[in-house]
Amino acid sequence: MSFLDETDRVWDELKPLYEALHCHVRDELSNYYGEEIVGKAGNLPAHVLGNMWGQSWSNIYDLVYTPEGSLSSSEINLSNILIEKDIDEIEMVKIAENFFLSLGFEPLSDTFWERSLFIKPQDRNVVCHASAWDLNSDINDLRIKMCIERNAEDFSTIHHELGHIFYYQAYSDLPDIFQSGANDGFHEAVGDLLTLSITPEYLQKIDMVSEEEAKQANADPISLLMQQALDGVVSVPWTLMLDKWRAKVFTGETSPDELNNSWWALREFYQGIGAPRDRDADAFDPGAKYHIPGNTPYTRYYLAKILQYQFHESLCNQIGFDGPLHECSIYDNELAGEKLRAMLALGQSKDWQTALEALTGTRELSGKSMLNYYQPLKDWLDVQNAERTCGWGG
Ligand SMILES: [Zn+2]
Repeated sequence: MSFLDETDRVWDELKPLYEALHCHVRDELSNYYGEEIVGKAGNLPAHVLGNMWGQSWSNIYDLVYTPEGSLSSSEINLSNILIEKDIDEIEMVKIAENFFLSLGFEPLSDTFWERSLFIKPQDRNVVCHASAWDLNSDINDLRIKMCIERNAEDFSTIHHELGHIFYYQAYSDLPDIFQSGANDGFHEAVGDLLTLSITPEYLQKIDMVSEEEAKQANADPISLLMQQALDGVVSVPWTLMLDKWRAKVFTGETSPDELNNSWWALREFYQGIGAPRDRDADAFDPGAKYHIPGNTPYTRYYLAKILQYQFHESLCNQIGFDGPLHECSIYDNELAGEKLRAMLALGQSKDWQTALEALTGTRELSGKSMLNYYQPLKDWLDVQNAERTCGWGG
């Protein structure tokens, strides 16, 4: 089976979960905006999702989920906590570094702190799109470039970028030719793996929330899982469709005058998201996404989404955690750290299946871990959707 067929196989596993979420969100938005703007069938219009690519719907969380009764004040708002506790940009990076240190990784070098860009400069224009760089691993010259804002999204992005940095660090002793991720998806998955461990208990351990707040947050798992799914599950079809579009452009299957139509046809098919109005023949909507003009491969983010849950489930099993997966945190766990570092240290000296096997015991990419993670949410969605007609004809 070819690699691209593998990505479709995993999408088939995950589609029922996405479809259930899509169905619920469509109905809630329809109730909120009225059926003229959001119909109860067909595609979601792209302009009401809180993100112009519809790749994350986190910003419309409040419109699609209302906690019941006493749970209404149970949510942890990390953005507010960062402001209230006066945690600045550098401290946010330190907290993320500390997570890696708790797993037995080596501290970041002095040059990382001196040479990275953390805060948007006032005196010049810079590209703020967050990235991580291995400038010279022989002398440990690793840096991130990011214009950090003090909110939950950037807190998570910092973990993502440090995932790259600690991966670079973990394989820096290998010959140059092996100094890379097992595949691109692995590189993107490391930091994201840690973000799944930012549980209420973890936040309590690092003094971001009180014991009472952590307990309250855990009392409403649907709220926690909905917040995560609006980002993690929602991005799955998006990260798959982007390179599908690009591949058709590169092979010539899509002619130059079909660039925009083909883009929307794929967005409708995979995401169930349509353009808010007819697009002009000469429009080029794909160009608004950094990775298109930037020519950055995108399937890596799709793979990372899948792998991050495979890594998480496997590590949680190995450290003997037997509760629901969204309550598991690998923070400060020596065994989890050892397992993770051993895989990262392989770099690309072995094929990705062998690297995957080293951590999880399986050689196969699978959507099952993500399904297991979101099972409580899926059960809840199925009840909500019982009387609704789901799907969008894609
Ligand atoms: Zn990345």
